[in-house]
Amino acid sequence: MSLPKSSTEFEPILPDATIGVLGSGQLGRMFAIAARRLGYRVHTFSPDSDTPTGQVADREVTASYDDLAAVREFASQVSVVTFEFENVPAATAEAAGALVPVRPSGQVLHITQHRLREKTFLSESGFPVTPFRRVTSLAELRGALSEFGTPAILKTAGWGYDGKGQVRINRVDEAANAWGRLATDEAVLEAFVDFAAEASVVAVRGRGGECVSFPMIENSHSHHILDLSVCPARVPAQVQQEGEALARRVLEALDVVGVLCVEYFVRRDGRLLINELAPRPHNSGHLTIDACLSCQFEQQVRSICGLPLGSVEQVRPAAMANLLGDLWFPRSPNWVAAFQDPRVKLHLYGKAEARPGRKMGHLTALADTVEEAVAQAQAARQRLGE
Ligand code: AMP
Repeated sequence: MSLPKSSTEFEPILPDATIGVLGSGQLGRMFAIAARRLGYRVHTFSPDSDTPTGQVADREVTASYDDLAAVREFASQVSVVTFEFENVPAATAEAAGALVPVRPSGQVLHITQHRLREKTFLSESGFPVTPFRRVTSLAELRGALSEFGTPAILKTAGWGYDGKGQVRINRVDEAANAWGRLATDEAVLEAFVDFAAEASVVAVRGRGGECVSFPMIENSHSHHILDLSVCPARVPAQVQQEGEALARRVLEALDVVGVLCVEYFVRRDGRLLINELAPRPHNSGHLTIDACLSCQFEQQVRSICGLPLGSVEQVRPAAMANLLGDLWFPRSPNWVAAFQDPRVKLHLYGKAEARPGRKMGHLTALADTVEEAVAQAQAARQRLGE
């Protein structure tokens, strides 16, 4: 698949202008905080009200993404539109794009919001991806399983995040059950990767095609949800370089103006496979707020506004621990105890209702070594439950 090259040159959008954000979760909130610090105004659009983004935005528009008249009205009030989650319908981005620039473009959104399209794009462009097959029936699933063997992972072709919409198949005779559980007519079967580590690179591409990337981040997941991120990743220098080089090539191949995160599996032989792309700041990059000169959200503001990119220099080793809604049960977290370590920073997203598995906030610790930072972040999280 080849992409039409859009013009990457445009007049900068200067502070005091208004930026529109499609979506209203924590990513939009941290983006809005960075944008306001730089003197921009922020409007947010989503079907919800009193949202994490809306609480810190200048204006919160509550309407369905399918309400294209509301989308047009929203777009007419801003200088540029960006998004904070990629499951915005293509028609929404298109309606906004007819009035103001949408960055990254609707085309990037279209590819990355659909697992099968994304994987097809990556493999056809020569990037290393986990072996996969398109599956539209139980018979095709059985065929793909006989090719890959077990274990294997069956994922919905479309919408999915944090492990939602995926089933692990351990034995061939589980195929019918897995196909039934996914309840979809189009899926992707992936070979199971026996990885040494998971890692990500958050990269930024500016209006003239210039590119910077943060140091590689090492990630561990619990129940398919990101649990802990550390930076710099404990990988050989050559893996780090390879990850940054691949990320840069992905941004160029997609002609991204904005931030994009590449999630990797690091194989036992040190080679990288791309697991997933996120065309926006990413949970694993939250530690850049406290650990780097210009965080991922400031970089998003700078890039989509056509300003020079900021420095990605990391000041100190860092660790980030996610705070999921589970911590709110059986009683609210012990905030005072979490604040006991003066080196640990708390970020809460303003979500009214805690639910198990819901991302409510995170803790970041900075230290002389990654190991110390991990110990501090984990100890602070532990104290929340005391
Ligand atoms: P995803 O939502 O596709 O990023 O998957 C969430 C998590 O599930 C990943 O971060 C991995 O920990 C695990 N996972 C997904 N796909 C695979 C695979 N093909 N092999 C091994 N683990 C996987």
